[in-house]
Amino acid sequence: MSSTVEQIKERLSVVDVVSSYLKLERAGSNLKARCPFHNEKTPSFFVSPERGTYHCFGCDKGGDIFSFVQEIEGVDFLEALKTLADRAGVTLKEFDGKEAKEKERLYSVMEEAARFYVAELQKRSDVVGYLKKRGLTEETIQEFGVGFAPATWRGLADALREKGFSMSDIVKSGLAVAPPDGKDPYDRFRGRIMFPIADASGRVIAFSGRIFEKDGAPVLAHDGNPVAKYINSPETPLYSKSKTLFAFDKAKPEIRKMNSCVIVEGQMDALMSHQSGMKNTVAVSGTALTDEQLTLLGRMTENLVMAFDADAAGVAASQRGVGNALSKGFTIRLVPMPEGLDPADLCLQSAEKWKQSTENAEHIVDFYLSVFAKGEGDKRVMQKNVEREVLPYVARLQSKTEQGHFVSRIANVIGLSEDVVRDSLNAVAHSLRTGVPARPDFIKRAGALSSEDRLRKMDSHFIGLTLFRKKLKEGASLEGDFRNEIETLWGKGFDEKVKEFSEHDLQKMLFEAEMYYNKETIELELKELYFNIKEHLLKDRLEKAMRDLTYAEMRNDEKLAEESLLACNEISREINQLTTARSAAEKSS
Ligand SMILES: [Zn+2]
Repeated sequence: MSSTVEQIKERLSVVDVVSSYLKLERAGSNLKARCPFHNEKTPSFFVSPERGTYHCFGCDKGGDIFSFVQEIEGVDFLEALKTLADRAGVTLKEFDGKEAKEKERLYSVMEEAARFYVAELQKRSDVVGYLKKRGLTEETIQEFGVGFAPATWRGLADALREKGFSMSDIVKSGLAVAPPDGKDPYDRFRGRIMFPIADASGRVIAFSGRIFEKDGAPVLAHDGNPVAKYINSPETPLYSKSKTLFAFDKAKPEIRKMNSCVIVEGQMDALMSHQSGMKNTVAVSGTALTDEQLTLLGRMTENLVMAFDADAAGVAASQRGVGNALSKGFTIRLVPMPEGLDPADLCLQSAEKWKQSTENAEHIVDFYLSVFAKGEGDKRVMQKNVEREVLPYVARLQSKTEQGHFVSRIANVIGLSEDVVRDSLNAVAHSLRTGVPARPDFIKRAGALSSEDRLRKMDSHFIGLTLFRKKLKEGASLEGDFRNEIETLWGKGFDEKVKEFSEHDLQKMLFEAEMYYNKETIELELKELYFNIKEHLLKDRLEKAMRDLTYAEMRNDEKLAEESLLACNEISREINQLTTARSAAEKSS
């Protein structure tokens, strides 16, 4: 009887799983795509149907279907196992983990609560009427699971307890609040329109509740102060605000397809935007875009289109993690919003209007440039403003071409020479440098490798090619591809050498081999590699012998000097032989 993991792998291929997230193209015996884990223009993400693995040459991520789901959904192994078991139709035995069990219970609590709120909304034609007046259709209300929390103290808690949930789980899920005096917990959300917040795979993990104002009168809490318009679930074992984007689960496929994501501020904006056909919309609620949220988005697209309130735009952007997003390589465009209107208002006016606004979104640098160019004050003030507010964005752009483009545009707008603007830009960039994380340089240039690393790279290449060759020429012996010679060089057998490399490395080597070679070219490359490795080792030895020689001469150690000199001569002779053998081999092929 095979393990659960094996059973799942038997039923689900790596192509099944990966292609539900990415568009794969054929690439020889493999498939390729643009990597979902780092931003790139040309595909370096490869999938091998035969081995059930993937590898990205841009960011070095690789593994099987489980690690893929973990990575792309941002979940742990257990969750990935569950997701894939579901898909494969494999039943899992109960998880042993206490934490996993608790999470499962909390998911059920949230699911049941969502059902409760939806049922409550159906009882309230006034609330439904209000939502429709705001522009939501029946379908959208249903699709997003909009509900209503009745204005009672324990309506939800009682209903959940009746279903068998414990009060402690209800409190842990954030749905009820336990008063510090030890009295009976009460519902957190009362008299509110409820928007469920889901994780990336669509499970409800939190709620946002908007107060339902009858006849527009603000509702007062018992201390006489007006209550908050919106309240959200607190942080729970399921919900972390900084890792969540509202509507991301629904927007995912469309973000990927359109290669852009529209970001709005409120739930109503997001719902109306989806309803207007912009299904690539997510909402952040009043916070800056966090690193985690940018990571989620970065797997789908590098193009962000943001819609903020017009009046707050200036302040908003600087506080919304825009700088961070730019330095991570995102392209950011801002939707010009008419004063006093939010995206939901625009959608209500017409879906077409909203769609056009997002299409007219301006690159963030252009956006601010025109704001300041139109602003009041004399030219010097304008120049200062541009320097202070706009150049930091330019400095964070990852593309030098783009930077160059904006330097010349700014020079035009503020009436200074490009050189002057570039000088200021360099100064700004310099001051930013310490605080801003640069993009990691994923691919080390071979020339920058140490001698040891270069040798290891050649060794691994040789192994990858040999394994690949075995596959290409079924049953082929390793004779003729320098097995004996290389084993002598290594001082150990091929199989033993392979053990020095991790599974991850081996997968990478195989992908590399498949990517660049075929039956003909592989022989040449193996030969070439063998010579290179040998030459590398000989030159290393020669270097060492020369160092010994210098050392011996310095210390007047005649015996060591003689030995070293002999060694130097011997190695030089071998290098010469190698060069001869090499050119002979080149002529024969
Ligand atoms: Zn990658």
